[in-house]
Amino acid sequence: MKRAGVIGWPLKTSLSPIFQQAALDAVGLAVQFEPMPTSLDELQVRLDELRADDCVGACVTIPHKQNVMAHLDEVEQSAREIGAVNWIVNRAGKLHGYNTDGEGFIVALREQFDFECAGKRVLMFGAGGAARAVLYALKAHGAHSAFIVNRTPSAADALAKRFESENFAIGTASSLSSALTAQGKDFDLLVNTSAIGMVGEAQSARLPIDGFAELITNRPIVYDLVYSPPQTPFMLALAQVTDTVANGISMLIQQGALGFRLMFGKPAPVEVMFEALREYAGE
Ligand code: NAP
Repeated sequence: MKRAGVIGWPLKTSLSPIFQQAALDAVGLAVQFEPMPTSLDELQVRLDELRADDCVGACVTIPHKQNVMAHLDEVEQSAREIGAVNWIVNRAGKLHGYNTDGEGFIVALREQFDFECAGKRVLMFGAGGAARAVLYALKAHGAHSAFIVNRTPSAADALAKRFESENFAIGTASSLSSALTAQGKDFDLLVNTSAIGMVGEAQSARLPIDGFAELITNRPIVYDLVYSPPQTPFMLALAQVTDTVANGISMLIQQGALGFRLMFGKPAPVEVMFEALREYAGE
């Protein structure tokens, strides 16, 4: 049996093995998809293991999406531009890196809300690795503009510098009120790419959105990359302005479906993946 898996640390609660294994079983591929907990010290050894004949590759999660890049033989252009790899495919002992997070985000919005980013105005919270993938994808799909609100202004400014162009304006602020003063209030898409609200470290931190819901007069899409808990603080705070609100499970699955295709050369059974996670959650 061949092996594949997810590389991360400490990797206590990765959902990838659950829905990837269900997908592999459904399409009849004899591959074991397993958690591969890997500390920074163990990363080189783990990547050497991935080159073995019995290993097909791995997806990559926190904290290694950047760390792995220097160890790969080829990194696809979008991953290079984003500056992170979330899928590694072993082709005859050579490791190829890809990033499917940004495209997974786009497909999730399209499938869930019939939402296309072209021409849209986006307000986003967070300026970390996930924000980079989202910004890259928004730009690639022709979004009009993005405004980034982040605790650390220099991180938002660095992203703006990296991704803004003549056709894609990016503003930054460390508070929502300055964003609203600069940009108006009617965004088409509100997205949380920060870790705020995620079970664990940032669970108790609060997004600076008090009073924001009352200002909104259109009906934006609200998307939170955080998916645990399923009803995130961001979703709850904005549920009163729109019913098009979702957590990041759909992006998690869509990035995984794109990775599945890269790794196994077959379309992923996306509905099987969703069903596996519904079952896991006891729904
Ligand atoms: P990251 O690179 O560590 O960035 C974390 C971001 O959250 C930074 O902007 C950081 O602000 C902000 N942040 C963290 N704790 C905060 C706090 N207490 N107060 C204010 N801001 C805080 O992480 P990442 O890789 O971008 O991931 C961000 C989130 O997205 C995680 O919850 C991750 O699980 C989720 N994610 C989901 C998917 C999906 O498929 N649904 C994919 C990727 C990531 P500073 O710059 O000020 O530190």
